[in-house]
Amino acid sequence: MIPTKRELRACAECGRPILWTVTRAGARMAVDPRPDERGNQACYRIAPRTWQSRSLDGTDALPPAPHEHRFVPHVATCKGRKAAPPATLPENVIRLDPRRRSARRR
Ligand SMILES: [Zn+2]
Repeated sequence: MIPTKRELRACAECGRPILWTVTRAGARMAVDPRPDERGNQACYRIAPRTWQSRSLDGTDALPPAPHEHRFVPHVATCKGRKAAPPATLPENVIRLDPRRRSARRR
């Protein structure tokens, strides 16, 4: 399954097209717009313009079903993040830089 152009948005960091998906936990997850066998996210369209994703990384994760395709999380390929981290992170991403800074101060 390939996302339609109307389903894609521009990444706020690098401007490239991304597909927003919703994880089973209800969090938003941006993936690159084309299926990729190297991806660790199994995605499929659950409703018009709504895609669900699930991670294939866990030892208990089932392999992709026939209706699912593998996608790469956009954070893995985004070129914009190196310059400056986004002001708001997805709920399932923990910001590590403030912690590192406080660890150095000790
Ligand atoms: Zn990006």
